Amino acid sequence: MQKETVINGITIAPGVVIDEVFLFAHEELEVPQYMVKSEEAEQEITAYHSALERVMQEMTSSLAELKGEESEIMNAHIMILNDSEIDSQIQDYIRMEQYNAAKAVDAAYREFAELMASMDDPYLKQRSSDIQDIRLLLLEQLLHRKRKDFKRMRGILGANELFPSDFKQLCREAVTGIVTEQDEATSHAAIIARSFDVPVIFGAKGISAMVQNGDLAALDGNQGTAILNPTAGTAAKYRNLQDADRKKKEIRNVYLRRNCQTKDGAKFAIEVNEGTMDVNYTDDCACSDGVGLFRTEFLYMESARLPDEETQFSAYREVLQGFRGKPVIIRTLDIGADKQLPYFSLPEEANPALGKRAIRYCLSNKELFRTQLRALLRASAYRDLWIMFPMISGVEDYRAAKKTVIAVQEELQREVPELQCRFKLGIMVEIPSAAMMADTLAHEVDFASIGTNDLTQYLEAVDRVGGSAGDYYRPFHPALMRMVHQVVQAFARERKPVGVCGELAGKPDGAVALASLGIRQLSMDRTSIAGVKCTIAQFETSELQALGDRLFFTGFQRGRGSK
Ligand code: PEP
Ligand code: MG
Repeated sequence: MQKETVINGITIAPGVVIDEVFLFAHEELEVPQYMVKSEEAEQEITAYHSALERVMQEMTSSLAELKGEESEIMNAHIMILNDSEIDSQIQDYIRMEQYNAAKAVDAAYREFAELMASMDDPYLKQRSSDIQDIRLLLLEQLLHRKRKDFKRMRGILGANELFPSDFKQLCREAVTGIVTEQDEATSHAAIIARSFDVPVIFGAKGISAMVQNGDLAALDGNQGTAILNPTAGTAAKYRNLQDADRKKKEIRNVYLRRNCQTKDGAKFAIEVNEGTMDVNYTDDCACSDGVGLFRTEFLYMESARLPDEETQFSAYREVLQGFRGKPVIIRTLDIGADKQLPYFSLPEEANPALGKRAIRYCLSNKELFRTQLRALLRASAYRDLWIMFPMISGVEDYRAAKKTVIAVQEELQREVPELQCRFKLGIMVEIPSAAMMADTLAHEVDFASIGTNDLTQYLEAVDRVGGSAGDYYRPFHPALMRMVHQVVQAFARERKPVGVCGELAGKPDGAVALASLGIRQLSMDRTSIAGVKCTIAQFETSELQALGDRLFFTGFQRGRGSK
């Protein structure tokens, strides 16, 4: 009889499950190592290039079946495969060091992965496992090895580390939970794992050595704990929690297409955050009141070069038409810090999050900004468009951005005099200086949306993508609550709309906190809509007001897990 063991990790996706575990392990590939004669070098390079070609073909053909974030991840992998520096490093190893192809690939990709893992920037650090993934894919091709197929495995997947390409070996319907030792919450593997819609825990150190195929385990994705070999009593407790969790999900889904309101009928606009191109706008439109944030950077990240005016115009027109007249807020390009474009190097900065990102970058790269604005204004001739500028630090930024929009509008009207642009101009409030100047800004702008992800980062001086001070990222800190309240009041005085589009808006407790501070417009990921609508429906307005008073002074006692 095995002993019950509790392992604490981090929540990647909530929920509770109790089931048998199946272990997913990468088979260690034995990489042959031998010296190649100089006359054989070209042959080895050809072998490496045809392996690369086959991996590339597989990736490109599976790209067509992928959606949203998964297709972005695949594109990122394709870009790594196309990296000319690694390619010439591998060729140099073969020609100069006389490595055989497999050894050269193994060495070059391992070095690149180690370099990434040593970076301070958490985003770059987490790319290391993508590079390891490609190393394995290339070696499998070169050595004619097939990865084990886990499609017939059912239950909770336990692993030391999962690479993005591992998920293809699984049957989605058969996986009831995921638990691994890796601890990068914003890695590509975490993003794909979350899309399985089952409880997911990362950072469960030691699990792959402690568990065996067929062992019983309970995952509590709400608490971030895995319980191995639970006793009969613990198992019964988790079976009950699992049932309650299922029922909760079913109840929540009843609210998906309903309007959002409190018990006493106070109405809320629930909007969706969009970004990637291949989503079903008809479904999203049916369960939301519009788009509260369209992140245009995904359009830039998904393409292999800067998207031209026509590409952008059709993407913007498509979302406007897809939402059939419901408000659509499109945010101008927000690159920099953790959002980089692979084909385009931004200036190196000691502190990228405090550097020339988002509107700052656009205002000093007028051609890039003008192209985007031309596409947006042309699309606005089809339906009313709400254009939003990110990272506004004060009224000067807004005026400079507005001036550019007006110049672009005049230019377009000279070209097509009958063009009727219909737009409003707004800002993201995500820098404390903008929040402090909310009264002045509210007077000038048409609308605003509070970006709690960045506002928390800048207000509390802690990196939003983790790091050693991660515990200081406190989305319910009273300082943040007060700041949100101050912005709400400033916009109410001017009778102008203000919402929230940061992650906090999509968490049930976050949505309630924001509602209690006077927010009536919440924008979130589509998977959060049912939960937020269901939660708001349990409250009376008076209860929200009482909570707001408390939050103003004490905040919630929550840490990063609630983000
Ligand atoms: C935010 O900062 O809260 C926000 C919504 O913008 P992003 O997460 O894209 O920076
Ligand atoms: Mg932001």
